[in-house]
Amino acid sequence: MTQKVIIVGGVAGGATAAAKLRRISEDVEIILIERGEYISFANCGLPYYIGETITDRSKLLVQTVEGMSKRFKMDIRNQSEVISIDPESQTVTIKNLRNGEEYNETYDKLLLSPGASPIVPPIPGLKENETLFTLRNIPDTDKIKNYVDQQKPKKAVVVGGGFIGIEMAENLVDLGIEVTIIEMSNQVMTPIDYEMASILHTHIKEKGARLILENGVQSFADNGKKVILSDGIEVETDMTILSIGVKPENELAKSAGLELGARGHIIVNEYLQTSNENIYAVGDAIEVVDYINGNQTAIPLAGPANRQGRIAAKNMMGLSERYQGTLGTSVAKVFDLTVASTGNNEKTLKRLGIPYEVLHVHPSSHAGYYPGAAQISLKLIFDKETGKLFGAQAVGADGADKRMDVIATAIKGGLTVEDLTNLELSYAPPYSSAKDPVNMAGYVATNLLEGELEHIQWHEVDRIVAEGGLLIDVREPMEREFGYIKGSINIPLDDLRNRLNEIPKDKTVYVSCQVGLRGYLASRILKNNGFDVKNVDGGWKTYSSVYGSNIHVEVETATNDLGETIILADQSLKADEVIDVTGLTCPMPIVKLKKGIDSIGSNQVLELHATDRGTLNDLPAWSKNAGHTILKTEQDGPVIKFWIKKK
Ligand code: FAD
Repeated sequence: MTQKVIIVGGVAGGATAAAKLRRISEDVEIILIERGEYISFANCGLPYYIGETITDRSKLLVQTVEGMSKRFKMDIRNQSEVISIDPESQTVTIKNLRNGEEYNETYDKLLLSPGASPIVPPIPGLKENETLFTLRNIPDTDKIKNYVDQQKPKKAVVVGGGFIGIEMAENLVDLGIEVTIIEMSNQVMTPIDYEMASILHTHIKEKGARLILENGVQSFADNGKKVILSDGIEVETDMTILSIGVKPENELAKSAGLELGARGHIIVNEYLQTSNENIYAVGDAIEVVDYINGNQTAIPLAGPANRQGRIAAKNMMGLSERYQGTLGTSVAKVFDLTVASTGNNEKTLKRLGIPYEVLHVHPSSHAGYYPGAAQISLKLIFDKETGKLFGAQAVGADGADKRMDVIATAIKGGLTVEDLTNLELSYAPPYSSAKDPVNMAGYVATNLLEGELEHIQWHEVDRIVAEGGLLIDVREPMEREFGYIKGSINIPLDDLRNRLNEIPKDKTVYVSCQVGLRGYLASRILKNNGFDVKNVDGGWKTYSSVYGSNIHVEVETATNDLGETIILADQSLKADEVIDVTGLTCPMPIVKLKKGIDSIGSNQVLELHATDRGTLNDLPAWSKNAGHTILKTEQDGPVIKFWIKKK
């Protein structure tokens, strides 16, 4: 019978476990030990307080020591650190950090939820860097906020393009600071794959942050005023946020002789029990089972930590619940976009040698005719033999999170890609379409499973074309003015049936369009006429996310030192014509834009409202090519506004 539980760590996992313990029993003695001053604070809200989206600091303090002690009848000792565990005698040594006093406390069960701390490698010049910050807790937040408020830095470097790095970059940009993000790998946000991250790369640059990929910090110089990169580039800065990942706080577990994993995480069984039966562990400090592939992994997220805290509390009290593993469902705001994912990505499956199939769709977040609809780029990864869902990723200005949550639920429910076509999801124009993006992904997957559709991926296209493959772009000619895959020929979908005699039957033919849908229709026409045909998955939208605009023009706008075009803003502008293409699917945004331009006179201004970033990514180059000038761009929620002066 458990009579006394000590919990180490009073935030996500620890505080949840403590509250659950009390709900299970009025009698159990609960002692919660927290090294810091605050318990149960909102780590996830910290970047937004620095960026002043959250203005009231007290709102970050979800629970106070007094409030929680009273409500849950528990003994909370903040500013106290557990400095050792003696598993034999079931005793911990606690240090009171206010006065240095050390004392022992016995336990029946001990729960470790010590979390993970920011990785700080021994970079030369780091010790002398007076303006280097990491972000984990309230004191870190106060330090950064005070520095920003008082010193008013003009430039900041964020090292690391993960969740915390990107959230910090956005919040610093919001404060008017010039931000450079430095990321060692070839992409930000590792839970998603490269082509999906490429959409974010473009957007981050659009929002004014400088993004340097495949480059690491070699050293700091001038007391941190200079960041010197691996290739010798020097970046001047007034402050640096180091956010290159976290490592488990495992010192206690290690010295107590508990089993640790290869990367130092605490090993637990499915009941979250460590190698000592009276010690449980949860949260960022533990290794978990990957829900998809069954391997050991570590996924430092708040949802799993909370869930584990609840389960560990039950198990410590003699109830029995298994932790089912971690799916890694996550979401983040990246300026005006949302990036969300669940399950395994391609990189993981490839590394593990698990065969998989991939598809990309780009449907609208809700009915195109209702204001504010924006494209979601959605990637689904699954087993082509069984239809088992391995994972999904989504990037979009609206509705990406909801679709990932539906797919995460489907994975947990053991549903297959065919089941996605049968999901009955809520629909009204402001929220979705009668065929929800999740249904759409299911339809495409089912077509692949049934052999009705064969496709190739964005990274295979250039090689196929270079080797003499025939690629037919079935979009309208005017869409190609905004970019096309080099080497493709143009036969618009509606002309295809009349031009079949131009297409050879003795080799595989490849088709592409804007997002993959017209390519699919074209592939059905061709297949039914005896051709061997494959569609470019995700169309020009997915391909150009990676390779960008390939319209070669003499662009005269200013460029920054990374070569991106900077569109110089004008102040007050009067539009002669306003064209709204929000929510329209291809090719309509381009058709309407061209009509709009045709309808105004020379030197007059067209104001264009759009939500389809893909179609309009190439607008600056197209305008220059045609001799028009983009005077100004503005983001208004999911709507991007352009002011274009006709030549
Ligand atoms: P924590 O919540 O970190 O709690 C561990 C506590 O243990 C710490 O307060 C520490 O002081 C204390 N401690 C450690 N050792 C001892 C000791 N020996 N004695 C006493 N006390 C000790 N996750 C998401 O899912 N979504 C997000 O949007 C998100 N945003 C984040 C933003 C930031 C800035 C940060 C830092 C994290 C974010 N996370 C997010 C991650 C999430 O906060 C963690 O996954 C979660 O808090 C882990 O819970 P935990 O209980 O394991 O550790």
